[in-house]
Amino acid sequence: MLGATGSIGRSTLDVVARYPDSYRLHAATAQHSKEALLEICLRFRPRVAVIGTMEDADWLRSRLRSAGADDIEVTYGKSALQEVSSADAVDTVMAAIVGAAGLMPTLAAVEAGKRVLLANKESLVMSGALFMDAVARSGATLLPIDSEHNAIYQCLPSQSVAGRPETGQSVTGHAERHLQVGQRGFGSAGQGVSRLLLTASGGPFREWPQERLASVTPEQACAHPNWSMGRKISVDSATLMNKGLELIEACWLFDASPRQVEIVVHPQSIIHSMVGYSDGSVIAQMGNPDMRTPIAYGLAWPDRIDAGVEPLDLFAVARLDFEAPDEVRFPCLRLAREAIEAGGTAPASLNAANEVAVAAFLEGRISFPGIGGLIEETLSATRTRAADSLDVILCEDAEARRIAEALLQQRSF
Ligand code: NAD
Ligand code: MG
Repeated sequence: MLGATGSIGRSTLDVVARYPDSYRLHAATAQHSKEALLEICLRFRPRVAVIGTMEDADWLRSRLRSAGADDIEVTYGKSALQEVSSADAVDTVMAAIVGAAGLMPTLAAVEAGKRVLLANKESLVMSGALFMDAVARSGATLLPIDSEHNAIYQCLPSQSVAGRPETGQSVTGHAERHLQVGQRGFGSAGQGVSRLLLTASGGPFREWPQERLASVTPEQACAHPNWSMGRKISVDSATLMNKGLELIEACWLFDASPRQVEIVVHPQSIIHSMVGYSDGSVIAQMGNPDMRTPIAYGLAWPDRIDAGVEPLDLFAVARLDFEAPDEVRFPCLRLAREAIEAGGTAPASLNAANEVAVAAFLEGRISFPGIGGLIEETLSATRTRAADSLDVILCEDAEARRIAEALLQQRSF
């Protein structure tokens, strides 16, 4: 469990706790939340606990000792994260660290050929081609946990029904690689996938006029109408950058071009996404907005298990609404589309600029509309290179952060 103390981490542990005979926690990691990690250690008894700093590791070790749990090994820092996610004893890794910090440990799990449950979308956004190549090379099983991508994965035709596609007949030209990755083919021969419909709640400010957005506070931005999530992804949902990151994520996971992915605002968050077929069929995956559904799907795949989620009451839902996204009030979606179209290191720069902007907004240093403004100015000052190595990607990530910080010093956003 990478990021065990977060929102996804806690939901995952809730599912795992229902099946003590099926799952055993090897390692739990957290950056700062040492009390929460201690609690998880005492309840789930992992073999290893990883925390951010040496001081916190000392604290955790001594608390575990006094609680009679000194069989749990405590380590700290970045290399410890990579060690636990590639350890021999591990078969499944929940990648639920937030942001770019998740890249190296998630890639380590991929390279070690694990079943990787991908919540940390930022790692795929940053390193798309490299990440997917590593999945293909290592034979890792990559299962999307982001609810939209999990929904699409469930709505795509399965390999066992369709058989192997013939090369040259796919819409995207990469169907074979995708089949290796997830046993589902986008647009592969005879399967007729024509588009992916990525649903978005629209966030808490969906109906707010542009003028009012300048007054948005961090607390308002973090109060999502349908989902309870960590603060960074909550702000991303409010700016629609989350949907932008998810557009990029979908392109990599399902070998789609940005044009094959349509964003549909659906305020009830009951349809988690859809797949359109050439015969006019549209297949949707529905359920209550509860991350335990995609998490349980990933844990049990190809089986299904009870996730503890309330059954969907369609009479209570009563209606499903759909509207087009507004890229004028929410420019982050446009910026993300431009980044994936530009390719190379552009999505990594976008992600880095967004992380700086969201942190600045949460600290009260910039306004809500300033998030998009800062990202746009940062991106126009960065260069886009071919993302052919991790070094190049990390270098452009650092460069975008440096530029964004410098812009923050220069003027207000
Ligand atoms: P969160 O802020 O609640 O938790 C983040 C976790 O990562 C915590 O355990 C924290 O200790 C750890 N962490 C933070 N910084 C770290 C660092 N520098 N090094 C190592 N560990 C670090 O976040 P969350 O809402 O659980 O989201 C986690 C990931 O899942 C994000 O990438 C998010 O986009 C994705 N996701 C979340 C949801 C959701 O409903 N929360 C849905 C879809 C996707
Ligand atoms: Mg999502």
